[in-house]
Amino acid sequence: MSKFWSNAVKRSNPYIPGEQVNNPEIIKLNRNENPYPPSPLVLKAIKKEVGQSLRLYPSPTVDTLREEIANLYDLGKENVFIGNGSDEVLAFSFMAFFEPGQAIRYPDISYSFYPVYAKLFDIPVEEIPLQDDFSIKPSDYYDSEGGVIFPNPNAPTSLYLNLAGIEEILRHNQDRIVIVDEAYIDFAEESAVGLLKKYDNLLVIQTMSKSRALAGLRLGFALGSPELIEGLVRIKDSFNSYTIDRLAIAGGVAAIKDKAYFTEKKEKVIATRSWVTEELEKRGFTVLPSQTNFLFVTHPEKDAARLYEQLKENLILVRYFNKPEIANFIRITIGTDEEMKTFFHVLNRLENF
Ligand code: PMP
Repeated sequence: MSKFWSNAVKRSNPYIPGEQVNNPEIIKLNRNENPYPPSPLVLKAIKKEVGQSLRLYPSPTVDTLREEIANLYDLGKENVFIGNGSDEVLAFSFMAFFEPGQAIRYPDISYSFYPVYAKLFDIPVEEIPLQDDFSIKPSDYYDSEGGVIFPNPNAPTSLYLNLAGIEEILRHNQDRIVIVDEAYIDFAEESAVGLLKKYDNLLVIQTMSKSRALAGLRLGFALGSPELIEGLVRIKDSFNSYTIDRLAIAGGVAAIKDKAYFTEKKEKVIATRSWVTEELEKRGFTVLPSQTNFLFVTHPEKDAARLYEQLKENLILVRYFNKPEIANFIRITIGTDEEMKTFFHVLNRLENF
């Protein structure tokens, strides 16, 4: 602690991300990254950009990429804000739409960045427990004081709340913002974006880190009414007016244009998710019905912390959360078929399955 720190820094409680390792022998199933590379068109576009224009600043309005993203959902570019990963878009949203002194609601258990931002920006919170089956109960979010935020599908539970449930939350918070963090939505049923036409209190946030395999490029975006987007732009311009670099813009545009590659890889991950679920169930695991690129699992006779450690000793990294309500769960990111076969090979040996 330094006497020079601001109160915000003193209050802060930094986020601890999953381990990031560089050992190529390790099978990384711990950070919900895509196991496949991005579209080959991304590399081509980035190389072209490197050759041509790195000495020039990028566009401050990022129109090209905003237009591509808008087209995905039949929106206009005035409905799109882009940030340096959806974590940055989330941080900006906390600053733009939540007030110190007015409690926001989010599920407990959920994305562990929300309490970090709330603390940093001095926003009080009401952490709402999930149902016994880990689902979100919409009526728990009626009439919030300062707004609502939740991931859909939720992380780390992998469960999806249907659009009727989201509408209920929106209807019962008409004067407060409801932020739906759709980091994993491309692996799920349907985005809430369609509800933007009906609800001006909705902000949807998505990322190109998961379904488009661009975690390293840092691209996230928000979709909402032009007024909400302007709120985010004001925050950005106040301290960070060139957030997205030229390589990310070129790569992001190429990734969205290659629709065939996107669909093929997304479907591949979903297919792997189904056989991995079946194989885990055969071995006695309970697997929550995932609509994401990861599985949240528990076993009645196995100790999750020990299993995590043993897998790690065998060069397989999954995610374990040291939180009492989920202390007997591990989260497993869907890898390639080869990686998942190795995972089962190791698991069978360790646990005599
Ligand atoms: N929201 C949720 C629910 C997430 O799990 C993640 C990834 N950890 C993010 C947002 C942030 O993703 P990114 O910053 O890579 O866009």
